[in-house]
Amino acid sequence: MTDRHSYLERLRCPRCRETHDASRPHNLCACGSPLLAEYDLSQLGRALDPRELVSRPYELWRYHELLPVEDAGAEVRLGEPVTPLVPLAVLGADLDLPGLLLKDEGYLPTGTFKARGAAVGVSRVVELGIDRIAMPTNGNAGAAWAAYAARAGLPCLIVMPEDAPDITRRECVVTGADVFLVNGRINDAGQTVAKVVADGAAFDVSTLKEPYRLEGKKTLGLEIFEQLGWRAPDVIVYPAGGGVGLLGIWKAAKELQQLGWLTGSLPRMVAVQATGCAPLVRAFDAGAEVSEPWVGANTIAFGITVPKAIGDRLILEAVRESQGCAVAVDDPAILAAHAQIARREGRFICPEGAATLAAAQVLRASGWLGRTERVLLINTGTGLKYPGTVSADLRTLEPGQAITWPQGRDRA
Ligand SMILES: *Cc1c(COP(=O)(O)O)cnc(C)c1O
Ligand SMILES: [Zn+2]
Repeated sequence: MTDRHSYLERLRCPRCRETHDASRPHNLCACGSPLLAEYDLSQLGRALDPRELVSRPYELWRYHELLPVEDAGAEVRLGEPVTPLVPLAVLGADLDLPGLLLKDEGYLPTGTFKARGAAVGVSRVVELGIDRIAMPTNGNAGAAWAAYAARAGLPCLIVMPEDAPDITRRECVVTGADVFLVNGRINDAGQTVAKVVADGAAFDVSTLKEPYRLEGKKTLGLEIFEQLGWRAPDVIVYPAGGGVGLLGIWKAAKELQQLGWLTGSLPRMVAVQATGCAPLVRAFDAGAEVSEPWVGANTIAFGITVPKAIGDRLILEAVRESQGCAVAVDDPAILAAHAQIARREGRFICPEGAATLAAAQVLRASGWLGRTERVLLINTGTGLKYPGTVSADLRTLEPGQAITWPQGRDRA
């Protein structure tokens, strides 16, 4: 039994090592780096046996000791189930990769894994007494934060590119956020938000500019490792935009290893980007510590269209430390993978998730993925949010009009 709801201790800057008081709101460190939450893992390790988790509700909050919300009453909930981790047996056989797995995040509120960051981030905003938030988004993060902000009764400003998926705008509108569109990319939306924040009108909850969205996304890793019996898969393939999910999984792995709950090797982390916007891949290939802003970013995988990630240094470090790699796949390969997983496995996933399958195909073909390895793909959201990814130009019959089915070669 644990006596504290959260074992959060402090915030620390991974760059200059300065510590910060976690009981007050913080954005970036004075040195410009994102801040990371630190927990009292030695106390927690003594107080809690992971087997005790079995009796808890099967939801994100089962890991509350490793989350920053100190009072259970401050948790802002929409119902956050542990998402399915499913074998892809048919595709695994196609790829000669029998250990292929998918973590399907489409089951979360608002249909994407952005709900993890929003659930924990908004809860912490409420707990710290912040009364207005603002953020730029490529769509899904805005939809998730707007929903959780509505649940908490918290005013929320969202700025997104004009060509962000239409449904995400509507999600922000219906939940009552104030929404602005910008004729530009997410970095341009970020500049608009920065001006509002500089005027003191709102607290900045942009990616990694506050430390708790990352803690929410960390639950993706906590779930994976618990679902696999506190063992890591050999490889985790992640569609990286701002890279928060990848950092969250890696942070989970490190904390669980320190707790002694996760034994064996840590996973090799693969960051997947689209060839139309691949700043992390370019930096990885060049052996650089940080990325250069990508000019003319364009891909159907809109959620990973991030020309310059603020956490690029941390992402590249995690990928390298894990012996992982960074891979870019083009839009035709993403679309082919998207169709393939739907037809072969019955799963309608998002284009970003499909990018991980396309990357696994490349890495298997090159031999970087070995036949017997356990490879976990992350599908970050449901395909239902991207109906336009599939064209369905069909002809309409007159009532009573006869058809022949099946046709041609398929006919028995
Ligand atoms: C935001 C998003 C991503 C990328 O997540 P990061 O944490 O920014 O790397 C991937 N897929 C979808 C569907 C997203 O909405
Ligand atoms: Zn610092």
